[in-house]
Amino acid sequence: MTTGRADCIALDADDPLRHLRDQFELPPGLIYLDGNSLGVLPKATAARVQQVVQQEWGHDLIRSWNTAGWITLPQRVGDKIATLVGAGPGELVVADSTSVNLFKVLSAALAISQADSPTRRVILSERHNFPTDLYIAEGLARERGFELVLCDDPEQIEPLLAERNVAVLMLTHVNYRTGRMHDMASVTRHAHEAGTLALWDLAHSAGAVPVDLHAAEADFAVGCGYKYLNGGPGAPAFVWSHPRHAERFWQPLSGWMGHAAPFEFTPQYRPAPGIARYLCGTPAVIAMAALECGVDTVLAAGDMQALRRKSIALTRLFMALAAERCDGHGLTLASPADDARRGSQVCLSHPSAGYPIMQALIARNVIGDFRAPDILRFGFTPLYTRFVDVWDAVEQLRQVLASGEWREARFNQRAAVT
Ligand SMILES: *Cc1c(COP(=O)(O)O)cnc(C)c1O
Repeated sequence: MTTGRADCIALDADDPLRHLRDQFELPPGLIYLDGNSLGVLPKATAARVQQVVQQEWGHDLIRSWNTAGWITLPQRVGDKIATLVGAGPGELVVADSTSVNLFKVLSAALAISQADSPTRRVILSERHNFPTDLYIAEGLARERGFELVLCDDPEQIEPLLAERNVAVLMLTHVNYRTGRMHDMASVTRHAHEAGTLALWDLAHSAGAVPVDLHAAEADFAVGCGYKYLNGGPGAPAFVWSHPRHAERFWQPLSGWMGHAAPFEFTPQYRPAPGIARYLCGTPAVIAMAALECGVDTVLAAGDMQALRRKSIALTRLFMALAAERCDGHGLTLASPADDARRGSQVCLSHPSAGYPIMQALIARNVIGDFRAPDILRFGFTPLYTRFVDVWDAVEQLRQVLASGEWREARFNQRAAVT
């Protein structure tokens, strides 16, 4: 049976999470399916940032490091994110960017592996991993004398763990281009059986799908603040280490905020206990205050399982409607059809016209994005996406394809950011 627009309106009326949308500033008439790249602005953020700027900075000035708790923001916001990813209190901090945090934890993982089993000289990842992850690994591999091995297919991970002397398996939990999701517990178990450490990038997972780092026995994790956590453009990222590893290594960016006593101003570095040593320099206070507002919008759902149920329903509906209503125009599903293997996004590929089709869709106020070479990417943030938005987005896509308007020259000029 096909789902009509009225059915979608009824689904929204029954949705137990529908009130969560009120937390956001959504421009009227816009269907935003790009929260996997930049989350929507929460209503609370502008007032909170204004308070930090005018009161805490403008009036209270330097006293705010203590009186407004600026100095503990990395831990305070970190503890909130920890509840979303199955980490314990005091185990996760907010700092720097995902790329920089990845450098820290991959360094730590390599050093720990080297200490425990010096013959292991391989970092294993996927060729389709997000490029910054691969670039960081390539740089570290070169610097530390490791080999970076990339597999083309997730099915090759297990055999490669068995065949090669892998020190660290570095994976992104939900793939940015296809939305394919690894079974974190199972992959980590295979890694450990092979004597390999497992490092997870949660950029497309935190706030999007349930994650349980402890249950999966993961070794290290990093993640992004500006995607599903709604922290704003360039929001600080987060970093987690399993407590069994946190104190085994000085992470290489041994800045003063990761010192055991930064305000003793001693000349020698002494790393802070626990995850605090993964801090480097002074926290970006205004950005962290904005990130906290974003994280609070996810915590307001109360339960990642409820968000996940809605996310699956949204992505399933999109796939079904796109297959039914946009057939015959060369689009194919690039995301797993199996709910258990799919994150909170759906990707369609088009052999030649992915970019202009997406531009024409954006001109119709349906925002997704394009990922080279051929992917139209649609993120479904269950906090603010309605079922009727899914219906309307597919209808706009159908009209873009049926009219052929994407062929117009204005939709074929590449911008710097796609
Ligand atoms: C978005 C994303 C990043 C972003 O890294 P930045 O340092 O914030 O630019 C990194 N890794 C993955 C897998 C991502 O999806």
